[in-house]
Amino acid sequence: MEKIKMPNPIVEIDGDEMTRVLWSMIKEQLICPFVELNTEYYDLCLPNRDATEDQVTVQAAQAIKRHHIGVKCATITPNLQRQEEYGLKKLWSSPNATIRAALDGTVFRTPILLSKVKPVVTCWKKPITIARHAYGDIYRAVEYRVPGAGKAELVFTDESGQELSRQTVFAFQGPGILQGMHNRDDSIRSFARSCFTYALEVGQDLWFSTKDTISKDYDQHFKLIFQEIFEQEFQAKFQAAGLRYHYALIDDVAAKVIRSEGGMIWACKNYDGDVMSDLIAAASGSLPMMTSVLVSPEGNFEYEAAHGTVTDHYRRYQKGEAVSTNPLATMAAWAGALKKRGEMDDIPALCHFADCLNQAGLEVFEEGYLSEDLAALCPAEELKEMPENGKLLGLIRARLEALLAG
Ligand code: NAP
Ligand code: MG
Repeated sequence: MEKIKMPNPIVEIDGDEMTRVLWSMIKEQLICPFVELNTEYYDLCLPNRDATEDQVTVQAAQAIKRHHIGVKCATITPNLQRQEEYGLKKLWSSPNATIRAALDGTVFRTPILLSKVKPVVTCWKKPITIARHAYGDIYRAVEYRVPGAGKAELVFTDESGQELSRQTVFAFQGPGILQGMHNRDDSIRSFARSCFTYALEVGQDLWFSTKDTISKDYDQHFKLIFQEIFEQEFQAKFQAAGLRYHYALIDDVAAKVIRSEGGMIWACKNYDGDVMSDLIAAASGSLPMMTSVLVSPEGNFEYEAAHGTVTDHYRRYQKGEAVSTNPLATMAAWAGALKKRGEMDDIPALCHFADCLNQAGLEVFEEGYLSEDLAALCPAEELKEMPENGKLLGLIRARLEALLAG
């Protein structure tokens, strides 16, 4: 069979530990035999980030802006223990945070569903996607531990030094805590545009929730910006596609989502999205089954698995033990990036290959060859023997060949 040609590259961002091992297995066994893989490679393993003073991360983000599509392996975000383990010059920041800041995007997370692993919420039939605003609020807050009685104020001074606003936050009678957070109109606008664009792309309704009854300026501002952008730029396209944009209070949406069939995109502010994406992942089946794509308003896409580098499995793998790591979310990241390349460059064969890659993994899992994270969630009589990584990839390879030939 002739390999599928790929004239334009995708940006390949390699990472650490067990996911790095899986990364090259997936590439060599499941992609390169079928596709003339064209990537611009950036090695974000922790030693290389340290050697390049983290410039490699910045370069990878710039490369995604040039080629519009990236695929990323999980990477270690160093803490003190990792600094010691790797002898790092410094505690480099999270690569995901650096890339997100450069691309100014929204993160969309969707669980992979298997019929063998029943969602905890039995009425869910279709995956629920969480769209998380990846800027501001408590993630950029300033905080202060109030030592005793005194007055906390919120003051805004404009560029010329003129005080435009001063409000009392609280007059403390004793010790307490204090927090100040912010967001930016341009970031909220990109968040809104990314959400509406993605909803049109995947053909699903968009729900957006905040707590604007309580946060009458802050959260209301999000609501109004979404409404304005929807009316000015997207309403006609949503109507033409038969899709709905629905705003409601977050408690209302939380209750409705639990009672729904799924199949919608739920746009959340930063903290809400952080919490809800883990809740949706766990309730849908298993945390490692979460896919993730960062979509920027300029039309750049970065695909990854939501899980980390699976350090425990790596330690066992280093000792020569057989491990059974779930590759589906990492395969879905590759499939997402290849499919997007196929769509942008009009290469139907590449899109078809990407669909088969996802399908092959799903079918092998549906047959009962489950990795160890899922085996515990499935009735024992439906399980085949648990495949270690080499065997699992071999089964998927055979299935992929059959699908491509079929
Ligand atoms: P993790 O790597 O996601 O692993 C947490 C646990 O979830 C694992 O110990 C394993 O459970 C299970 N798990 C996750 N992915 C799995 C898979 N593909 N197959 C089977 N089981 C899987 O999170 P972590 O242990 O908190 O973090 C490890 C490292 O990853 C850290 O250095 C962190 O900085 C990094 N990290 C990176 C990203 C990213 O790059 N996007 C995201 C999160 C964390 P069992 O041990 O019970 O089998
Ligand atoms: Mg979280």
